Amino acid sequence: MDGPAAAGKGTLARRLAQHLGLRYLDTGLLYRAVAAAMLARGLDPAEPAAAVEAARALHANDLAGPRLRDEEVAQGASVVAAHTAVRAALLAFQRRFAAAPPGAVLDGRDIGTVVCPDADAKLFVTASLEVRAARRLKELQERDVEGIESRVLQEMKERDARDSGRDVAPLKSADDAYLIDTTLLEPDEVFDRAVSFIESGDH
Ligand code: C5P
Repeated sequence: MDGPAAAGKGTLARRLAQHLGLRYLDTGLLYRAVAAAMLARGLDPAEPAAAVEAARALHANDLAGPRLRDEEVAQGASVVAAHTAVRAALLAFQRRFAAAPPGAVLDGRDIGTVVCPDADAKLFVTASLEVRAARRLKELQERDVEGIESRVLQEMKERDARDSGRDVAPLKSADDAYLIDTTLLEPDEVFDRAVSFIESGDH
């Protein structure tokens, strides 16, 4: 499953994994953890050698913690994610996770195109920029973090542009992915569409 930030991938992927009896990997956490480790040590995520070193040193224990959800970390994640060597360092782990029985749901930006080009079913989940920013703002409020609407929108725009515009594994739909635009849909409708597609065997 691929798509831009706050399109509803996480909610859908978690629910699908549970429904299908599969494991779930939020691959964004890998890039976030690399950025968080660098920022904690005062390093610049734009620095490729330091970023790849942080990616290689990544440990499963680093994939949890409230700081990973911070906006500063999200922006840093999309900067480290543009380094080819960082992506290469994180690829084997993702592929092993996907291949291990009983199988898995992975969500990210390049799952259908690069990480799992032979996935049994591919989904591309998207929504309008305005709706995604509104969802992110609500999420911030629920975490008691102050968010300014115009700033959230601007940051999301910047991250979209960086993720879609980078040379290596840019955010884009695989040709054989099923597209779900969640702009006007409730989470249950999104889930029902995804399950119908997967169970139709039409992929
Ligand atoms: O999905 P999430 O917002 O946590 O991802 C954080 C950042 O990590 C994204 O903006 C993107 O730059 C990067 N990412 C990626 N490839 C993935 C998952 C995330 O480049 N498969």
